[in-house]
Amino acid sequence: MRNLVVQKFGGTSVADTDKIKNVANSVIREKKLGNDVVVVVSAMGHTTDYLMKMAKDISEVPSSRELDMLLSTGEGVSIALLSMAIQAQGYDAVSMNAMQIGIITENVHTKARIIDIKTDKLNKYLSEGKIIVVAGFQGVTEDGEITTLGRGGSDTSAVAIASALDAKRCDIYTDVEGVYTTDPRIVPNASKLDVVTYDEMLELASVGANVLHPRSVETAKQFNMPLRVRSSFNLENRGNLIKGEYDDMEICRPVTGVAVDMSKVRIVVCDVPDEPGVAAKIFTTLADEHISVDTIIQSYARLHNNTNDIAFTINKTDLPRAMELFDKINDEIKADKIHIDDNIAKVSIVGAGMIDRPGVAATMFDTLANLNINIKMISTSEVKISCLVDADVANDALRALHKAFNLGCDVIATVKGDLPNI
Ligand code: ASP
Ligand code: MG
Repeated sequence: MRNLVVQKFGGTSVADTDKIKNVANSVIREKKLGNDVVVVVSAMGHTTDYLMKMAKDISEVPSSRELDMLLSTGEGVSIALLSMAIQAQGYDAVSMNAMQIGIITENVHTKARIIDIKTDKLNKYLSEGKIIVVAGFQGVTEDGEITTLGRGGSDTSAVAIASALDAKRCDIYTDVEGVYTTDPRIVPNASKLDVVTYDEMLELASVGANVLHPRSVETAKQFNMPLRVRSSFNLENRGNLIKGEYDDMEICRPVTGVAVDMSKVRIVVCDVPDEPGVAAKIFTTLADEHISVDTIIQSYARLHNNTNDIAFTINKTDLPRAMELFDKINDEIKADKIHIDDNIAKVSIVGAGMIDRPGVAATMFDTLANLNINIKMISTSEVKISCLVDADVANDALRALHKAFNLGCDVIATVKGDLPNI
């Protein structure tokens, strides 16, 4: 580990030239603390959306290579402007794109994964005392083709660079104040969390707390890179620290956060034969089309006719494609009917502290029962319990669970962690 901090600023933080000057101040502030600084930035404001819209105006299905050529230009603008803003304050800065650095990705367009990051040029500039301003979101293949990492991918660029350079921390500056116990728009007394573990954050991100690109948290976990989320507009608020585990696991509360996800639809494949290969056929067909499946339940076989029901959830946006696929495979899986339920929500409680602590699930079910809410499906992982409920009662469920697990800012005993004191 070296005296190096990687900072990342998202689109809203660099939306106009005044905001870019403001970002330059935060960068210089870190430099003055004696740290080397690499800054990763996104495109200004809604630039990426705007570029995308132009592409769609020209062609309904633009080629993904050209899309990457186009979308990657957004970050090119913000790195040059930020570098100028830092230089204008008398500090040495240099902007670099993915091609210049060698941020090598797979040969896949619009959602490439990073394979390797060359560090020689970065290290050379750092040793000369320069602040390096890096274009997020973009990469380059071994053959020199420009790629992008998927929408929101600059977070992942920042964490990958921090890991490659062995930074002491990666700070993600954003337009929210950090990660809360739940969505403060639904539950006004949500509390800000000081410390969250990678596993909790991954679950909170995938159930709708849209603060970070999930791949950035996976990368941080893989390299054990401490990740801080903080507001670029309110530096008084020191944000959250996301790391491997709590300093004092034993005293932390069982549940860290609750979340609701309205983006799912439930599909029940009714009365399929209870025999080997049926589930495999259904789920490989969906997987081949990149449709990801969540919560899965298979009922007990009905003995009189030897059939099963298989229920699962997918993203609403994948429903039309999934229905086409079912039409194609129904000769093989012989379902009696396919039932769709799109008026559902997934309510989840998340917490590393629920491991080995009995009664957490019971409290969740009890809370829902007291509201007379019917649970349609249940799924669990080590750090999460999710219940599928009717969409119209989901927010009531969220509020009640937040209260039942004492997460409100009026009651919470904050988990104190070693948040950097700057
Ligand atoms: N500019 C890209 C986007 O809007 C990447 C990012 O912001 O992280 O998706
Ligand atoms: Mg973002």
